[in-house]
Amino acid sequence: MNPETNPAAPQKRISVVIPCFNEAGLLSEALPRILDFARAAALARQMDVRLVAVNDGSRDQTEALLDVLRLRLPELCVLNLTRNFGKEAALTAGLEQALCWPALKLVVTMDADLQHPPELLEKLLSVHEQGFAVVEAVKQHRGEESHSRRFLARPFYRLFEHWSGLPLQGQTDFKLLDVVVVRQLLQMRERGRFYRGLIAWLGFPSAQIPFDVPDRAGGQSQWSGMS
Ligand code: UDP
Ligand code: MG
Repeated sequence: MNPETNPAAPQKRISVVIPCFNEAGLLSEALPRILDFARAAALARQMDVRLVAVNDGSRDQTEALLDVLRLRLPELCVLNLTRNFGKEAALTAGLEQALCWPALKLVVTMDADLQHPPELLEKLLSVHEQGFAVVEAVKQHRGEESHSRRFLARPFYRLFEHWSGLPLQGQTDFKLLDVVVVRQLLQMRERGRFYRGLIAWLGFPSAQIPFDVPDRAGGQSQWSGMS
C-alpha cells in the first residue's frame, strides 16, 4: 500500500545530529532553539523529527544537562561516548544512530553552539526539495576566529583542493543529507575521517547556501583541525 495513503505507515523522519563537547554552558539555550526550527520545518512537511545529541566525552556538565533536557524535549535522543573521540567520530556515531531508526529520510548535521543558524533549516529542506541530495551551508563570513586558524585553514584548503580536485573553500559541517547519501557515507570504512571531504568525494548532486557565521553562543571553540 502507498505509505502516503496508509495511515498506519510511519511518518518520514528528519534527524538532526549535533556533536557536543563541553557545551554545558549553552545547551539549554541551543537545543530547544534548534528543535523549534526543526519541528516547524518537519511539521510543514508532515514529517517527524529527532535530535541526536552526541556527547563526545565531555568533561563538564554536558551529560547531566542532556539528561535534564531529555525530560523536557521528547524528540531528543542522547548518545554518550566513553571518552572524547573528536568531532569526526561523534558525527559518525550520530549518523549511525540516525540510520538505526525506521523511516529516516533526511539528516542534518550541525554544531551545538548556534554558529550554524537553525533559522537556515527551512531553507536547507526547501532546496533539497528542488532535487539536491546534499545541501551545504557555506561560510560567507567566517565569524570570530583566531589569526592562527585563519592563517592555517586557507593553505590547508588550497592544498586539499589541489590534490583532491574537490572544492572545499568555505565548507562547513552544517549539511543536509538525503538518507541515500548517509548510507553511502557510512559504507566508507575510512578510520581517519574528514566528513566534508568524504561528502564532496561521493559526488551526489549538491547545492550551497551561503551564510554568515555568528559568534559562539557561549563557551569556547575546541578547534584543533582545519575547519
Ligand atoms: N565537538 C565535538 N568533539 C570535539 C570538539 C568539538 O563533538 O572534540 C563539537 C562541539 O561541541 C561543537 C562542534 O563540534 O558542537 C564544533 O566545535 P567548535 O565550536 O569547538 O569548533 P569551531 O566552530 O570553532 O570550528
Ligand atoms: Mg563553533
